[in-house]
Amino acid sequence: MRAWEATQYYFKRASKGLGMGQRLERVLQMPRREVKVQLTIELDNGELGTFTGFRVQHDNSRGPMKGGLRYHPDVDPDDVNSLASLMTWKTAIANIPYGGAKGGVNCDPNKLTYSELQRITRAFVDEIHDIIGPGLDIPAPDMGTNAQTMAWIVDQYSKYHGWTPSVVTGKPIELGGSEGREAATGRGVVYAAAAVLADAGKEIADSRFAVQGFGNVGMWTARFLASEGARVVAISDLSGAIQNKDGIDVNSLVHYVAERGSISGFGGAEPMPADELLTADCDVLIPAALGNVLTLENANDVRARFIVEGANGPTSPEADEIFIKRGITVVPDIFANAGGVIVSYFEWVQNVQQFRWRLDRVNSELHAMMLDAYNQIKKLSKVDHCDLRTAAFQLAISRVAQATALRGLENEAFCVIGAPHAG
Ligand code: GLU
Repeated sequence: MRAWEATQYYFKRASKGLGMGQRLERVLQMPRREVKVQLTIELDNGELGTFTGFRVQHDNSRGPMKGGLRYHPDVDPDDVNSLASLMTWKTAIANIPYGGAKGGVNCDPNKLTYSELQRITRAFVDEIHDIIGPGLDIPAPDMGTNAQTMAWIVDQYSKYHGWTPSVVTGKPIELGGSEGREAATGRGVVYAAAAVLADAGKEIADSRFAVQGFGNVGMWTARFLASEGARVVAISDLSGAIQNKDGIDVNSLVHYVAERGSISGFGGAEPMPADELLTADCDVLIPAALGNVLTLENANDVRARFIVEGANGPTSPEADEIFIKRGITVVPDIFANAGGVIVSYFEWVQNVQQFRWRLDRVNSELHAMMLDAYNQIKKLSKVDHCDLRTAAFQLAISRVAQATALRGLENEAFCVIGAPHAG
């Protein structure tokens, strides 16, 4: 099943019970706008390079559209459509005033130089600057992009529209970025893990974790887990996987990777086959790399009791059904990795108000928002006797549907879960 089909599967599984009309359902499923552009740049060797860029704007009924920009060889319309839709549900669950979007450029950033990446980014902004903006659609970092990419976007966008740092989030602090943004997704994943473990009478400190991926999300997640006293027993990256039953020294690994570029050859652990990470002996599995890694092929072999989705779309619907049957609790991506977009929202608020927050304020507001979202999802899953993903989608869909109906874009009245009664 491809990414878009998988997202639709989860949408339909949740919307079944909501009593929504077919017309409204269609409005919520389809993206508002899909843009595809050709980016031609001069490569460092003097030849021309052509790349394809995408921006999919899924929904804006709750506010400007929001979502990352991915530079990766797998970026294609199916993928970006699915990721844009996930952003709509993610911002609704977090209850921040945004819709959802996603973009990407089909390229391999590891094979491009700094100046080539800069030219691709500026060429992309030249093509899409009219459809992005602080009140329209606000990009952010995702796989293969970072604060530097956002800085180039600010600069290029500002050439057309005047100084506008709030056109993107995840910027360097010097250009109006927020304290805590870079670590926010990983921090949020740990808050999500702590919440679900607490419900089961457990703590981070007495649990064993396996983390797939050591990029921005996986690395920060592992760091925060280790600082809470958890045992991180397995970690992987593009070069392979490593394990240590007594817990990997994550801080040493971070220094090692900063020097060597990958986890390969790290002395404090033993190498293990990369595909065995997902079925490693642990309490909590955190997929924090690519999508569609937990599938029919490996779902029955997963040994973790909890899966906390740091990545977007790591679990195929077939695997998800197996996890439900096996009693494995899956904390879904649209909640578990929402920390990044939540702190993006704080960054945007700080830009609009021209007022800086301190790191402790960012982190405590993030914690409060993650807990609120978790408690609402948990309550719904208890009332409806359903899994956390279905409850999360129900909460999100009902919020977006209500906004859509209230704005008059759709005539169907819609009964919203959890809406306070009048009077
Ligand atoms: N790329 C991140 C995500 O998938 C963050 C998006 C944002 O901050 O807008 O949630």
